Amino acid sequence: MHPSPLTSQPDTQTTDHVDVLIVGAGISGIGAAYHLKTKLPGKTFTVLEARDAIGGTWDLFRYPGIRSDSDLHTFAYEFKPWTSDNAIADADEILDYLRETVAENDLGRHIRFATKVLGADWSSADARWTVRVQDAATGATRELTCGVLFSAAGYYDYAGGYRPQFEGEEDFAGQIIHPQQWPEDLDYTGKRVVVIGSGATAVTLIPAMADKAGHMTMLQRSPSYVMTLPAKDPIANGLRRVLPDETAYRLTRRMNIARQRFIYDLSRKRPQLVRTLIRALNKKQLPEGYAVDVHFKPRYNPWDERLCAVRDGDLFKAIRAGKASIVTDRITRFTEKGILLESGTELEADIIVTATGLNLLAFGGMELTLDGAPVDLGDEVAYKSMMLSGIPNFAFAIGYTNSSWTLKVDLVCDHLCRMLAHMDRHGYDTVVPVLDDPGLERRPLLDFHAGYVQRAVDRFPKQGSHGPWTLEMSYARDRDRLRKGPVEDPALHFASTAAAARGRTPVAA
Ligand SMILES: Cc1cc2nc3c(=O)[nH]c(=O)nc-3n(C[C@H](O)[C@H](O)[C@H](O)COP(=O)(O)OP(=O)(O)OC[C@H]3O[C@@H](n4cnc5c(N)ncnc54)[C@H](O)[C@@H]3O)c2cc1C
Repeated sequence: MHPSPLTSQPDTQTTDHVDVLIVGAGISGIGAAYHLKTKLPGKTFTVLEARDAIGGTWDLFRYPGIRSDSDLHTFAYEFKPWTSDNAIADADEILDYLRETVAENDLGRHIRFATKVLGADWSSADARWTVRVQDAATGATRELTCGVLFSAAGYYDYAGGYRPQFEGEEDFAGQIIHPQQWPEDLDYTGKRVVVIGSGATAVTLIPAMADKAGHMTMLQRSPSYVMTLPAKDPIANGLRRVLPDETAYRLTRRMNIARQRFIYDLSRKRPQLVRTLIRALNKKQLPEGYAVDVHFKPRYNPWDERLCAVRDGDLFKAIRAGKASIVTDRITRFTEKGILLESGTELEADIIVTATGLNLLAFGGMELTLDGAPVDLGDEVAYKSMMLSGIPNFAFAIGYTNSSWTLKVDLVCDHLCRMLAHMDRHGYDTVVPVLDDPGLERRPLLDFHAGYVQRAVDRFPKQGSHGPWTLEMSYARDRDRLRKGPVEDPALHFASTAAAARGRTPVAA
């Protein structure tokens, strides 16, 4: 048995060196911490979180109605059953679930809040990362070291959402709000609210505000696909009544993964059929004579961009009740009273919400260097969608965009733990994916056509056309690759660098 070069002794939370450093305490980072703690109990690890709370996305966004659009039977962790009656859950319920996960597994003592990771330098001689962090309160920076760096920093910029500038904004007499910075005390009772956007945020906000607001208008340049999902899943809740929670959860999860896959595959293979089906479902939920093809007929095929889910058809109910309407038009300029449209109509508003999206950001904005030399992340290729070509001892959590994000993250964490155990068994301290395939075609890592993806795609690593360099958007294929497949791979190079270097270095007296 080899010694374990990646396992330092002893495990103490005051040390400034850990075996694994996790960046981010969102659902991915907490999941990674759980996997490490339970599968590799000898490893030391710390989770660094830039904010002062866990939960990431689910704590950051505070707009009315903030909720998942995935069902929680696939969005929740594989290792902890989702036992609420609600399959589509509010942020508060998701946060409670995450807090419970932390408490049940004593993960809290591993998390350091208000600590932003600015960058990390890999030392080949020492086989470790020196990580530069900043204290959010004081701005002071310091360094810590780790054997493996794991980015669970999400995919967008926490500093602010995407906010195009509109002509005449300064003339508007009302309030302009971005959903990523929702004012806690916003009173919209009786107000006319125009929401610019047609994505997940807009379709969530509109029905959530409709009862209190004077009127809600969704102003979209072009329509998105909108599907109704039931808030409560009768099959899941039925199974839970007759079976133990774990069994009911396992069955529901399996069924829902298969259903998501079926809808996705059908959308890719028979887009016209899916378009027709969605249109028929939309029409049924809209008032008689409603202009379905003006407001609900996208220019692209289903799943070229993420489908928008509405809980129990609430958006359609608000439209039927006359509390909300949709306008499909282009903005000419903001005016004192609202928004002037290209059609010549002026939409009057007291509040304008710019649900115009996110600013994508790779790996929480961390700057990586290798022995002092900067790395351009846009040049690297993702290995098994969890590591990067040429970057040693670095892994990341990027989930699915055509299914629940977290399904993939569970598999990535599984594979990482197996890889670390493999390294310990063989006495390796370094692992690096090596891209040595001149025939490999490079493609964007994120293959959505949505504007917010296209704006940033160059700054993200690439994926390859074949082999371990492809990014799979399929849970079944990833399960075979990451959970069942071998850790060893011709493209993955293991070494015992630091041990060898130490052997050559005379011991100081
Ligand atoms: C409004 C909204 C709704 C969504 N709904 C769904 C859904 O229903 N289903 C789905 O599958 N996906 C959904 N997504 C995508 C969603 O973000 C992910 O599914 C999931 O929450 C991501 O979790 P995460 O832990 O990977 O990242 P995040 O939730 O983004 O968490 C990342 C954490 O890392 C921290 N961090 C970032 N950079 C640094 C740094 N440099 N140093 C230290 N800490 C750092 C952040 O502060 C944050 O706490 C939604 C996204 C949004 C914005």
